[in-house]
Amino acid sequence: NFTTRALAEPLKNPGELIDSVETFIFDCDGVIWKGDKLIDGVPETLDMLRSKGKRLVFVTNNSTKSRKQYGKKFETLGLNVSEEEIFASSFAAAAYLKSINFPKDKKVYVIGEDGILKELELAGFEYLGGPDDGGKKIELKPGFLMEHDKDVGAVVVGFDRYFNYYKIQYGTLCIRENPGCLFIATNRDAVTHLTDAQEWAGGGSMVGAVSGSTRREPLVVGKPSTFMMDYLANKFGILKSQICMVGDRLDTDILFGQNGGCKTLLVLSGVTTLPMLQNPNNSIQPDFYTNKISDFLPLKAA
Ligand code: PLP
Ligand code: CA
Repeated sequence: NFTTRALAEPLKNPGELIDSVETFIFDCDGVIWKGDKLIDGVPETLDMLRSKGKRLVFVTNNSTKSRKQYGKKFETLGLNVSEEEIFASSFAAAAYLKSINFPKDKKVYVIGEDGILKELELAGFEYLGGPDDGGKKIELKPGFLMEHDKDVGAVVVGFDRYFNYYKIQYGTLCIRENPGCLFIATNRDAVTHLTDAQEWAGGGSMVGAVSGSTRREPLVVGKPSTFMMDYLANKFGILKSQICMVGDRLDTDILFGQNGGCKTLLVLSGVTTLPMLQNPNNSIQPDFYTNKISDFLPLKAA
């Protein structure tokens, strides 16, 4: 399934791109903010796009917060964004379970932080696990056997700074011993940029541990999988050809847009640099690239 794409072009005519779509999907970290810091010119850019009647949607692979918690973050940063416009991978996990009519008498075992728990609760699913689970050294006496809840019908794994061996074993038991138990990953980002000083192990590391012990591949609900794209296209009744996906990462954001058949714009305000984009070993080429989303702004004067 190898297709050769033309090399990405610098965005010379933002007006043309804006006129060619009705919806912009923005990745969050590296596009809207960096950690807790708003990126220059974002509020004005979002206001300008809204004034032109564009639909704005925000998608993040960071599962540590719920949509509601992200709503607060947008507000704190002075951005006028409603919860309904935010699609985090935590929300995607709950939305996926809803979409398949996951039985309400089954439980979800969660390896991950608060965002996933909040979304499952809101969707009416019973869960166990979460950040506080396990954490003590497991004492292995002869014959020791770890029990697990036989009602667990899905294991959801996301980024977890409290990750430990107990969680791996518990999740593994659920998946291995309960026939039909689902294995869902919020995302598989290999690395994440928790600080600007170095790259940190991402959600893919926790998913990889459970995949390694179960020899199973998870169903991914975050970028670059098509679940969220299909979900929001459906929800808002939008054609994917009428969407421009804007992101700072090639293997999640740009691939997400391309998998969905959308236009794609890479911004260099996050983790991808121009040399990385232009490296001959990189096969993921967006339609366009530009420094940051406020490069749309001179339009205001036009
Ligand atoms: N996962 C974690 C744990 C993160 O901290 C981040 C970024 O801060 C991401 C994923 C990627 O987020 P996004 O998809 O908004 O770039
Ligand atoms: Ca990003």
